[in-house]
Amino acid sequence: MDLIKVKGIVIKETPYKDNDKIITLLTDKLGKISCMAKGCKRTKSPILANCQYLVYSEFVLSRSNTFYYVNSASVIKTFYKFRTDFDNLQIGFELTRILQTITDENQDTSEILRLLLNTIYVLENIDKDPKLVVAAFKVKLFTLLGFSPRVDKCNMCGQALKEDREMLANEGVYYDYVSNVFCCSDCVKNLDKRRYIKITEATIIAIKYVVICEINKTFSFNIKDIDNFYLFSQVYTDTMTNGI
Ligand SMILES: [Zn+2]
Repeated sequence: MDLIKVKGIVIKETPYKDNDKIITLLTDKLGKISCMAKGCKRTKSPILANCQYLVYSEFVLSRSNTFYYVNSASVIKTFYKFRTDFDNLQIGFELTRILQTITDENQDTSEILRLLLNTIYVLENIDKDPKLVVAAFKVKLFTLLGFSPRVDKCNMCGQALKEDREMLANEGVYYDYVSNVFCCSDCVKNLDKRRYIKITEATIIAIKYVVICEINKTFSFNIKDIDNFYLFSQVYTDTMTNGI
């Protein structure tokens, strides 16, 4: 039987029978896959640690017709501090829930994996507001999937949406979460405001930065109005995941 070597992080674990688990891995080569991990709940199992939620390992897998099996594994990073912090763990659940929805087998998830590893590292080790980290993760995630927020111009009149201080201080820019487009304040006047959220200058600058930056620089910025950026990222994620 052919053996396959992949790097992957456990984004879901499901107990199976007395001693087994089915683990969902986000990998560097195979996309998101489910694997049978036989005997991994036994205290003496050599793959006990590797099959725990958010542990990152190199796995040696074999494949039957329908399923992958974990043959062996060696830990790359346990993220122990992250996994044992209640607040961080809640964030972990939120992020991996999104990843489970939007990734698939045989998709190239190598960059998404890098983003997730970076995100966990920053939350675990760097003193950054978790809201900023989560919001930047979401914007970058959809950018990597080819769905970056297009905040360059008004969808109605075509006017450029510049992060001009005066314009935004007085008027603002609006995000239409029903149609997933941005709108200037002039055009929004005649429309149903309930389907829009107002976004601030700081949010526009943050979105533009995260869209173009290197993955490992995704969190290398600060922002005054974190709540608005965070709100945008939540609404954007809902819009994008409802459409999938
Ligand atoms: Zn307009």
